[in-house]
Amino acid sequence: MKHNPLRSLPSVHSLLELEPLVDLIQVVGQDQVVEQIRIHLDKIRNNLRCETAEALDVSPAVLAKQIALDILSATRPILRKVINATGIVLHTNLGRSPMALEAATAAFEAAKGYLNLEVDIETGKRSSRQDAVRGWICKLLGAESSTVVNNCAAATIIALRALAKGREVIVSRGQLIEIGGSFRLPEIMEVSGAILREVGTTNITHLSDYQKAIGPNTAAILRVHPSNYRIHGFEEQPSLEDLVALAKSHNIPLIDDVGSGAVFPLNVPGYHEEPNPRISLAKGADLTLFSGDKLLGGPQSGIIAGAASWIQAIEKDPLMRAFRLDKMTLCALEQTVLLHLNPASVKERIPTLRMLSATEKELLQQAESLLQMLQPLAPEASITICSGAGFAGGGTLPTQEIPTWLIEIKSKMQSAESLAYALRTGEPSVFARIQEDKILLDMRTVASGELATLAQAVVQAMGH
Ligand SMILES: *Cc1c(COP(=O)(O)O)cnc(C)c1O
Repeated sequence: MKHNPLRSLPSVHSLLELEPLVDLIQVVGQDQVVEQIRIHLDKIRNNLRCETAEALDVSPAVLAKQIALDILSATRPILRKVINATGIVLHTNLGRSPMALEAATAAFEAAKGYLNLEVDIETGKRSSRQDAVRGWICKLLGAESSTVVNNCAAATIIALRALAKGREVIVSRGQLIEIGGSFRLPEIMEVSGAILREVGTTNITHLSDYQKAIGPNTAAILRVHPSNYRIHGFEEQPSLEDLVALAKSHNIPLIDDVGSGAVFPLNVPGYHEEPNPRISLAKGADLTLFSGDKLLGGPQSGIIAGAASWIQAIEKDPLMRAFRLDKMTLCALEQTVLLHLNPASVKERIPTLRMLSATEKELLQQAESLLQMLQPLAPEASITICSGAGFAGGGTLPTQEIPTWLIEIKSKMQSAESLAYALRTGEPSVFARIQEDKILLDMRTVASGELATLAQAVVQAMGH
């Protein structure tokens, strides 16, 4: 009778006693290990019933090793570190701003222990979780008061609710934007309970358009920075100064959504500065709103700064409870704002600002180091250095191009698509750009400490 390999398969029980699986029971628990053993044995039984059965090695030690690999991949966290070689600094899908070490450390410490989140250390009495960050933000922006929520979308909703629920808010048609990820101004407005009063046209809105729209039911004027698009040519919007004067003469507040919140100019060639919330307040906006994870370079959050009376009204809104920040984010935000209070070092210490202001010379040097690591490892691939354009932030900043240096890879064996797939799914995961069947690695978003790992990942993805 012919030997039946199905009979020689080890039992679940005996596999559970083998070393790599015994160790894994400690990590992921017996149930998950047993589940993967069963799945694996079923697969093998199915294979053994086919013609090519002879080639299979079903010895217990080999099986245990394979099953251990299955378990590791089946229980692997979905969210993991990636290397961003896209050159897009504020890449929303890759987590927007990486945080400064000080901010990340503060979040870590807050996460694993207790802190005085809502208690005053001096008096032992209950305080507001807003108190810590409020003072620093006021100092940074020259604001009378401030409060923070989960993101700029939440900031817009709660500000409109507190100032204008059931009443009209005037917005220029040129500013009724969609930021992506379902931030569409008319819908945000609807959710807030304020009534949208559109004025002007897509490209031209005059001060007189605002003026004519003001009536007894007007609660506020909202100005929104069109972060991700530009109208070129015949275009006009009233200046902030003119809008402030108009709002003041009618005794209504002006809310200025500046979006990315550039507190310091970057002074980078080719880069158009984004509006500064400090200047927005200095020019007389009653409230200025911006994201904490765009050009502030901190954690996801929305900052509202301006008149104390409006901030109080906002903090009284029941939605504040739903929109408030957690302890980790608050600690990270506090550290980020503290770093901004030292303008001399802020661009060096906030990664987002450091990357955006990296010079072409630095980026070229980085490209040269990477090339030197790659060439000996993958001698037959066509790998070159080239200059090109990078982007500050897809969907968060205008699609303005900043000069950058890149590594360009053209493989004879693989299409750019399949190489990009191998890079993404490798260890560590790498996100690159594809252009004309070439892979581009943009040095602007790669930290110098990541270069060696990136080189290894590229070589692995190319199948070396
Ligand atoms: C990015 C942006 C928002 C949305 O900010 P989130 O923090 O992502 O919610 C709102 N308004 C403007 C003008 C923006 O640029």
